[in-house]
Amino acid sequence: MSRSTRRKAAEIRHLLETEGDAMYENTRVLNEGRYEAIESFDRFEDLREEARETKEAAIADLDGLVERVTESVERNGGHVHLAEDAADARAYVEEVCGAADAETVVKSKSMTTEEIELNEGLESVGIDVYETDLGEFVIQLADEAPSHIVAPGFHKSREEIAQLLNEVYEPEEPLETAEELTRFARDVLGEHIRDADVGVTGANFVLAESGTVVLVTNEGNARKTAVTPDTHVAVAGVEKLLPSIEELSPFVEIIARSATGQSIAQYVTMLSPPTDSPTLGFDGPDDTVEGGSEDREFHLVLLDNGRTAMREDDELRETLYCIRCGACSNSCANFQHVGGHAFGGETYSGGIGTGWEAGVEGLDSAAEFNDLCTGCSRCVNACPVKIDIPWINTVVRERVKGGADPDTFDHLVDGLVPDEEEPGFDLRNRFFGNFETVARAGSALAPASNWLSGAGPVRAAMDRWLGIDRRRDLPRFRRETLRKWFENRESAVRSGAGPTPAREAVLYPDVYTNHVQVERGKAAVRTLEALGVEVRLPDAGESGRAPLSQGMVSTARRAAEETHDALAEHVEAGRDVVVIEPSDLAMFRREYERLLPGDAYERLAANSYEVMEYVYGLLENGADVGGLAPGGGEKLAYHSHCQQRTLGLEAHTEAVFDRLGYDVLTSDAECCGMAGSFGYKSEYYELSREVGDSLLAEMDTRGRRVVASGTSCLDQLESLLDRPTDHPVQVVDPRRTGR
Ligand code: SF4
Repeated sequence: MSRSTRRKAAEIRHLLETEGDAMYENTRVLNEGRYEAIESFDRFEDLREEARETKEAAIADLDGLVERVTESVERNGGHVHLAEDAADARAYVEEVCGAADAETVVKSKSMTTEEIELNEGLESVGIDVYETDLGEFVIQLADEAPSHIVAPGFHKSREEIAQLLNEVYEPEEPLETAEELTRFARDVLGEHIRDADVGVTGANFVLAESGTVVLVTNEGNARKTAVTPDTHVAVAGVEKLLPSIEELSPFVEIIARSATGQSIAQYVTMLSPPTDSPTLGFDGPDDTVEGGSEDREFHLVLLDNGRTAMREDDELRETLYCIRCGACSNSCANFQHVGGHAFGGETYSGGIGTGWEAGVEGLDSAAEFNDLCTGCSRCVNACPVKIDIPWINTVVRERVKGGADPDTFDHLVDGLVPDEEEPGFDLRNRFFGNFETVARAGSALAPASNWLSGAGPVRAAMDRWLGIDRRRDLPRFRRETLRKWFENRESAVRSGAGPTPAREAVLYPDVYTNHVQVERGKAAVRTLEALGVEVRLPDAGESGRAPLSQGMVSTARRAAEETHDALAEHVEAGRDVVVIEPSDLAMFRREYERLLPGDAYERLAANSYEVMEYVYGLLENGADVGGLAPGGGEKLAYHSHCQQRTLGLEAHTEAVFDRLGYDVLTSDAECCGMAGSFGYKSEYYELSREVGDSLLAEMDTRGRRVVASGTSCLDQLESLLDRPTDHPVQVVDPRRTGR
C-alpha cells in the first residue's frame, strides 16, 4: 500500500468510527421521507421535466438574465455586483460592511458564502460573524466544515450537540433533549440577529424579472437575517437565476420533497428588497419586525467564480442545473457512511460535489474524493433536475488523470512503480480498466493462474503495487469459458429436444459470465431454451463498462463501438439481446448514448433486455412456465443490482419468483458496497465492507437462499456471509428440475 493509500484508508476508517453512525441514520431518515413524498405525488415526474427544461433555458440565457435582474434590483433601489471570483465577492461584501460601520454580521445558511470563505474574510477585518442556521451554528461552534450541502451538522448526533452547547455556554440546567437544544439555540441566535448590523443570506433562486430573492428553509432565521438589520446582502451563484415567478413553482414543489421529504418547506420567503418586508418577530405573531425603513439597503452579489467556464463546458454544464437539494448525497451508499468530510472537497460534497469542485475550485479539489463515486447510478433517479451525476464524475475522473487514456493493456509495464506526482492513469486503473485482457489470460492459464493469484507473495505484491487489498478474494477464472461450453454443446432447441423456437436471441457474454461465473451463463442458456428461445452467443467483447469505471473514456468509447457493431447485426436480423450483468445493460441503455455517435445507441437500447426481465416478458407472452424450476415455497433473500434498480427492472425478477412459487424478500439498500473494482481497492476496503454490512443488516438472510443480480453483489454477499450465492437465473434454471 502506498503512503497516500494508507493516509486515505486511515482517514476513512476514522470517519467511519466517528461520524459514520450519525450520517447513516440521518440520511436514512431523509431517504425514507423522500421515497414517501415522491410516491404520493403523481406530478413529480412532470415537474422534474419542467424544472429541467427551465434550467437548461436559464443557463443558456444567463447573460440576458443577469442584465434583467440588474435592472430590476436597481429599479427597486438595490445594488447588484457581478463578482468574477471569490476574492472579488468577499471584497465587495467587506466594502458594504465597512460602509455600514458593521461590527457584527449575521448569516443564514449558504453554501455560496462557504465557497467564497466569507466568514474568514469578514473576521480578518475585525467583524464578528454569527451563523443563524441551527446546523451552521453548531459547526461554527465546533470549528468544523459542513458535512452535507443541506444539513451541515449531519455528522453530529444529538448527544454530541448537547455536549458542545453545554461546554460552550454552561447553561444553568444542562441541555439534553432536541426541544431544549432548539429553544436554547433560538434564544442565542435571536439575540445575535437583533443586534447585527448586516444580514447576509444566500438564495435558492433569484427571479430576474422582479429582482426577487427566494429563500427555501425550515427555520425562520433566514428571513429574520434578511430583514432585521438595515443592510441585507444576498450572495448567490449566477446559476440561481430564473426568468420570473412564472417558472418558480415546479422548483418549490420538487426541492423540499427531494431534500427532506416534505411536500413544501416550512418557509418559502420571497423578498424583493429593499422594500417593505415585515415578518413575524421573535416573540410570536404579535411581534412583527418592521422592515422597510428609509435606510434599508440591499446588495445582490452574483458570483461567477468559474461558472461561465462551466457553462461553456459540454460535460460540466449540467452541474449548473443543480438546485442543491442533497438527494444525490443521501442516495449514495458511500456518502451515507462517510459523509461530506471524506466525500467532499473545499466546499461541496456528495455526487454532484465533484462537478462543483472541478468547476469552482479546480481539479485538485475534485480529485480528493472523485474515486468515492462508484458509478452505481442510484443518484440519477434521485436528482429532481435529472442531472447525470455519474457521467460528470467519470469525465472529471478522466480529467484528473490528465486524460492520458492508455489504450491497451501493454501499457501495464509502463511505470511499474507508481509515481504519485505523475499525472495519468495508474497501474491499478489500467489493471481494472483492461479486465477483459486479464480474464482472457486468467482462463487460458487456469488453474495455474488461480493458484498464482492466491499465493501470499503475489497478493502482497498486488497490494503493494496495484493497491488491491489482500483481504479480498480474487475472481477464479474458469478454463472452460461460457463461449467454449456453448460451442461444444448441442442446442436443445435446434436438436428438437426443447420447444419449437418462438424467438431468437443473442446472450451477451459479459467478461465475468464468460470467464468467471460461467454457471450463470449456462443457466441462462438453458432457461431461455426451455422457454422456446433459440440462443446464440455473439462475437462481442467487453462493453466498455470496465474502462469507463476507471475514467478511461476513450478506451470505453472504442469498446462501445466494437460491441455495438458486433450486436447491431443481430438486432438488424430481428434477434433480441439478452444481458445477464445489469451494469452492461446500463451501458447499452444509458451510457452508449454518450459514447456512440448520433442516435446509434437507440436500436440496441430498445432491443436489449436484462435476462430476468426477458424471462418475465416471455412468460407474460404465453411461454410455458413448466420448463422452469418451481419454487415450492423456497425462501429467497434477493438483492437487486444498483444499476438494475436505476433502470427500474428489479420488479421483473420478483414477479418471476412469485409466479414460480418462491417466497422472496427483497432488500432496499442502494448498493452492496462492492461496486466493481471499488471493493478491491485497499483504501476503500473497510468502507466497502461497512456498506455491505448495512445491506446485510436490512436483509433477512436467515434460512434463505441468497440471490443477487450483479457480479459485484454476488461477490460481496458471498464474502460477507461466507456461503455461496446465486444469480436469479440459476434459481429458475431447468437443470434444477432435472430437465
Ligand atoms: S445534483 Fe441533483 S440531487 Fe444532487 S444536489 Fe443537485 S439537484 Fe439535488
